[in-house]
Amino acid sequence: MKLRLGLQARFLLAMALVLLVVLVLLGLLLRQQQLVQRESQTISGAVIHSMVDEYLHSHGRALASSLADNLANPLYYSDLDAIGELLRDQMRDELVDYLLVFDAQDRLVHDGSTEITGFGRQMPDPLARRAVDAREPVSQATPEVLEISVPIRVGSKRIGGVRVGLSLTTANRYEQRSAERLHEQIEELSRRQRGWLWLLLALLLGVVVVTAGWVQRTLVWPIRQLAASARRIEAGDYSVRQHGGKRNDELGDLQRAFDRMSEAVARHDREVRRMAYTDALTGLSNRLAFRDALEHRLSLLRGTGRQLALLFADIDDFKRVNDTLGHEAGDEVLLQCATRIREAVRRHGGEDALLSRFGGDEFVVVVQEGDVRTVATRLAEAMVGELRRPLEVQQRQLVLGISIGITLFPEDASSATALMKNGDIAMYQAKMAGKNGYRFYSRAMDHAVERRVHMEQELRGAWERGELSVVYQPVCRTTDGKVVGAEALLRWQHPMLGTIAPSVFIDVAEQSGLIESLGPRVLHAACAEAMRWMELGGEKLFVSVNISPRQLRRGDLPDIVADCLRETGLPASCLHLELTETAVLTDELQAAALLARLHSTGVKVWLDDFGTGFSGLSHLRRVPVDGVKIDRSFVADLQRDPDDLALTTAIIAMAHSLGITVVAEGVEKEAQYNLLAERGCDLVQGYWLSHPVSAAEFTHLLARRTR
Ligand code: C2E
Ligand code: CA
Ligand code: CA
Repeated sequence: MKLRLGLQARFLLAMALVLLVVLVLLGLLLRQQQLVQRESQTISGAVIHSMVDEYLHSHGRALASSLADNLANPLYYSDLDAIGELLRDQMRDELVDYLLVFDAQDRLVHDGSTEITGFGRQMPDPLARRAVDAREPVSQATPEVLEISVPIRVGSKRIGGVRVGLSLTTANRYEQRSAERLHEQIEELSRRQRGWLWLLLALLLGVVVVTAGWVQRTLVWPIRQLAASARRIEAGDYSVRQHGGKRNDELGDLQRAFDRMSEAVARHDREVRRMAYTDALTGLSNRLAFRDALEHRLSLLRGTGRQLALLFADIDDFKRVNDTLGHEAGDEVLLQCATRIREAVRRHGGEDALLSRFGGDEFVVVVQEGDVRTVATRLAEAMVGELRRPLEVQQRQLVLGISIGITLFPEDASSATALMKNGDIAMYQAKMAGKNGYRFYSRAMDHAVERRVHMEQELRGAWERGELSVVYQPVCRTTDGKVVGAEALLRWQHPMLGTIAPSVFIDVAEQSGLIESLGPRVLHAACAEAMRWMELGGEKLFVSVNISPRQLRRGDLPDIVADCLRETGLPASCLHLELTETAVLTDELQAAALLARLHSTGVKVWLDDFGTGFSGLSHLRRVPVDGVKIDRSFVADLQRDPDDLALTTAIIAMAHSLGITVVAEGVEKEAQYNLLAERGCDLVQGYWLSHPVSAAEFTHLLARRTR
């Protein structure tokens, strides 16, 4: 771990450094002081010593000289008493060790004592030699004594001498005593000085401690608090209290700025959260919010035995709206769909239903109340019903639809992810089953969906393997009810998945480009089949073949059509091509040119799924088509919806005014047939007349009718 140096630590470190330096300086000072003290002790010792020495000498000389003067007479007269008195007088001097008076023959005359032990004898001590020889004052010393000897004269005649022995021991004692006293005083002085230094140090320490405390309280602590708050904000906790400082300094500014900033960040976070959790277009909660809520609900439900149903809904053909009418219209469609779904959820979903837009044209609902399976079924039916009604967008009527997959907790899955995946799978199944409906998830679907991923690969060889076939749905004339032709419709009988609706696999073929090879094959098969009908005799029948937008875009359609007609021998007038509005609308100019080329081959062109609102009626004027096929969603609602009836009537009238044939598809009831016939619709097609049938069946059917 890397050691971190905080502000406080740094400050303390700096202070410690300063202290250390001060201590070192102090130590040096003390050492210096000691040295000086020691030196001054030696110097003062030497000075004292030399002073004592000098004093001893001068004192000794003075004493010796004055004694020599005073002793001259008594010695001359050998007045021992007077000499003794003089000597004793001086002997009181503590410094004087001995006083010796001798005569001219160097014999001891007096030593200051009463008995004078060595009287008349030569002096035996080692200093005596030089002393008696001296004609002038002589000083000599042993370690114990400093001796000054002075000759005693009368006139110029030397009559003897005096030896003054001063005690060096006593002098030394004095010297030592005064040196000691001096030391004591110096010691006292330096002690006082050291005391001051310690006091200074203590003061400095005090200052450091007080400053550290102050720095801690006014700088480190508030900054630490700011840092802690910043960390909490960073971790997403915006409940930090305001620092609110009233301080009138930079830190106060910082605290106030921090408060403002944290408030702004919190506000921003709330805003971002709100934005992140709602779908901007519909105002519904979005995928993120939904996921959170679902996880939460699941966590509450787990182990309680209660159920939950998830409905995964996807609007059918929404992409077409975006592609043909633009994104603005797409947004409007989504908004209207959202409103309808919301309404359905409000009515059927129960109290705590959860609705969210999952992105694109996907909506997800969670229901939790009562018997969730029934509630989910009711809700899904309501949603399908709502979306079946045409939407009014940009003055156009659009019919879309919705496919819904339903999955249940805990039966199908227990995690949010798995539930959503199941919902998605079931939704695809609903789409595969022909859209605008709902399906409950079952485990078998998993495999089916996996297969769907491979659908493209499987579709690739499907024609060769004979899985694809063309069925024919009769088209009848309203005036006499006779079959006048048939629409060729592709079928895929998958060995595993069973019958797959063209609405699903045609999409795949369209997206993968497979349609470009499949389309001509269907065309060829249909033309060949229509040729066989001719051979049956009777009225000439047409076959109408669906052409995908992609085939149209390639531009070689007229050539393919011409080749087909030539190869099969079918008269051009017997072939009708059904183009969707989408394909024609994306590029009106190019479409017009292509249609002209198609017309030149003699085939007829019909506009398929007409009325779903993608093109207006006015469009018919600009695009030269021979017929329109009114979409089955209009036909389905003819009896119920006066608007649909009005629109159908308008289409018929308009088409007729332009000399265009009108075909109505998806006629399932007699009433619908009658309504259309009444309004002059030329041709009809639908389950009421006949389901799409195989080629063989269609031939049978024809044979029966002609009979
Ligand atoms: P479409 O061109 O609108 O074809 C008519 C669809 O309506 C057919 O569905 C037909 O079975 C169905 N239908 C007929 N009468 C009724 C009725 O009374 N009620 C109801 N509800 N439906 C009826 P199918 O065969 O599932 O085809 C769906 C779509 O697949 C077709 O719609 C067409 O767009 C496309 N398709 C089919 N075969 C081909 C093909 O060979 N080439 C291309 N490009 N598209 C094809
Ligand atoms: Ca068609
Ligand atoms: Ca159609």
